[in-house]
Amino acid sequence: MRPFDYARATSVRDACELAAARPGAVFVAGGTDLVPLWKDAVCAPPAVIDITRLSLDAVEVGDREIAIGALARMTDVADHPVIRAATPAIADALCASASGQLRNAATIGGNLLQRTRCSYFRNVGFPCNKRAPASGCAALGGHDHRHAIFGASEHCTATHASDLAVALLALDATVDVLGRGGPGDAGGDRAVALAEFFVLPGDRPDRETVLRPGELIGAIRVPRTTLARRSRYLKVRDRASFDFAVVSVAAALDIEGGVVREARLAAGGVGTTPWRLRGSEQALAGARSGAQAFAEAAARATDGARPLGHNGFKLELLRRCVRRVLDDLAGGA
Ligand code: SF4
Repeated sequence: MRPFDYARATSVRDACELAAARPGAVFVAGGTDLVPLWKDAVCAPPAVIDITRLSLDAVEVGDREIAIGALARMTDVADHPVIRAATPAIADALCASASGQLRNAATIGGNLLQRTRCSYFRNVGFPCNKRAPASGCAALGGHDHRHAIFGASEHCTATHASDLAVALLALDATVDVLGRGGPGDAGGDRAVALAEFFVLPGDRPDRETVLRPGELIGAIRVPRTTLARRSRYLKVRDRASFDFAVVSVAAALDIEGGVVREARLAAGGVGTTPWRLRGSEQALAGARSGAQAFAEAAARATDGARPLGHNGFKLELLRRCVRRVLDDLAGGA
């Protein structure tokens, strides 16, 4: 193992300063994604900033929004009574993530920042533009059945791994990004819509979010809306006990008098980032809640999809997931 520098941050500003002063530094909290990657030589950070002592683990419930601290443990958030009642898609997504042991250790911020499960990324014997920029992409023309049908580039087609991010995208969450300055300062704190937090691979698949060096996630803010109260997350995976999504769908509906006033849908396992299903949302908005509208929404879920050699099965699987989650939501009306 290569030598590395270790520092324990005593405050958020301290963490940002420590990281900014050490090029290539990474933050560690639960370590459930970082440590396995490190052990497999997928990464070798020159410096690690320990942020486990920072006070960023609260779940703060307000009348209009819920703020989930970046260091809150996945288990604690999944079990929170207000999260379960006001934003059930979040509780569903967390309960469907990883194993119970990992959820006890992993944090909300770390979950959003976890790296892809592309097997070529995690095996240093293969070229991978995300792990080693400009080295090539072994997945293109290789085993691509787990890869993306949305948002891919000629440089990378790996899917995003977080279940939670899909639910948060459907619920219009925002991310509190903390930096070295204060609110409004250059390099200071800012709020970023989750829809803009993750970036497409383009020609820089090693860049996955809008975070700049030395910045970290402080909290996730989720609006408390009628829509969020009627929300679900459905995940299809190869192994029911513990696995990443082949396809998943988060959906939220606001139904009044049998008519869909508003709909939000997002999908996982299909995009290089968590993927909003805008065609499905358009099909539902203003439609009478029921089989006809749900079938149209399912058909529109694959608008713009570009399957690869071995993942065309995701098209029909995604459509069926959308239909099923909508049926579940309407059944719970
Ligand atoms: Fe690497 Fe992306 Fe290609 Fe996978 S799909 S090998 S992560 S560049």
